[in-house]
Amino acid sequence: TRILGIEGTAWAASAAVFDSATDDVFIESDAYQPDSGGIHPREAAEHMHEAIPQVVERALEHARETSDGPADEPPVDAVAFSRGPGLGPCLRTVGTAARALSQSLEVPLVGVNHMVAHLEIGRHTADFDSPVCLNASGANAHLLAYRNGRYRVLGETMDTGVGNAIDKFTRHVGWSHPGGPKVEEAAKEGEYVDLPYVVKGMDFSFSGIMSAAKQRYDDGVPVEDICYSLQENVFGMLTEVAERALSLTGSDELVLGGGVGQNARLREMLVEMCDQRGAEFHAPEPRFLRDNAGMIAVLGAKMYDAGDTLALEESRVNPDFRPDQVPVTWRADEPE
Ligand code: ATP
Repeated sequence: TRILGIEGTAWAASAAVFDSATDDVFIESDAYQPDSGGIHPREAAEHMHEAIPQVVERALEHARETSDGPADEPPVDAVAFSRGPGLGPCLRTVGTAARALSQSLEVPLVGVNHMVAHLEIGRHTADFDSPVCLNASGANAHLLAYRNGRYRVLGETMDTGVGNAIDKFTRHVGWSHPGGPKVEEAAKEGEYVDLPYVVKGMDFSFSGIMSAAKQRYDDGVPVEDICYSLQENVFGMLTEVAERALSLTGSDELVLGGGVGQNARLREMLVEMCDQRGAEFHAPEPRFLRDNAGMIAVLGAKMYDAGDTLALEESRVNPDFRPDQVPVTWRADEPE
């Protein structure tokens, strides 16, 4: 199966081709970089409008070059696109492109949930059966596990996503977007100062810790110390709930997903926690962690093989598309 994947939920205009016979994933991305502040939804959508045709063209070129089928056949079997969650204006632009491509190539359309794709790329690259997934991305933070035909949300943020929370702090400090890598760098020189730590049952909250971090900065606490402490607390919260999710489900596999997963300190904490429990840990390579169309194409292929395609008239995007709204058709014959 060969699938064209298209991603455009927020900042990454990305197209990919996944070939399930060779396991090759070709990804072409063009990132939106705000001039100032965070992501402006309208500007991000304009970026999609400009960049999607080019990344798609390069992906299709790759598909044609590597195809051994007849020249008059489409170079892919289906077009998969991220239906949500994400910024409405971006999703609508990308949805329109995907529909047009599916019609012009005369291949089916597959609608992929972006969060489930973050999870499935970890399962795919680790070859795990039934892992718990920690999705630590910009706009989200979830713990997910499969049960009875769905990915259940075991725990999640009660306010902002984890990456967005970090980015809000760095905006306050005057650093350019995205803030995560800058916090990681500054934290290397820092020492611990007290900040809130908020876990309630299986859920976490980041807004209090962000306000406190801004306040500490305004009070003159060295920014390195705040960055260090932010990482310790925020990643400690994620690790605590990930451990509880492993314990609750009895799973001994943990996969990481999302752009914040590129952070070495978060991975170190998760590795240590998994080692202590005798669980296996897997983080996909960085190109699969941050937003990318490769994960959309890989899950698109599984859905296509399961016959899970989308009629054009039912292909509306959904900015609030939750992972537990997705019937997991591609694992239907697996044991619970
Ligand atoms: P979602 O997948 O929820 O739609 P998103 O589209 O914002 O989120 P991702 O690519 O998953 O995007 O993640 C981007 C986030 O990752 C940004 O908030 C960025 O600051 C953060 N990030 C990137 N690198 C690091 C790092 N090394 N440490 C911490 N955070 C990081």
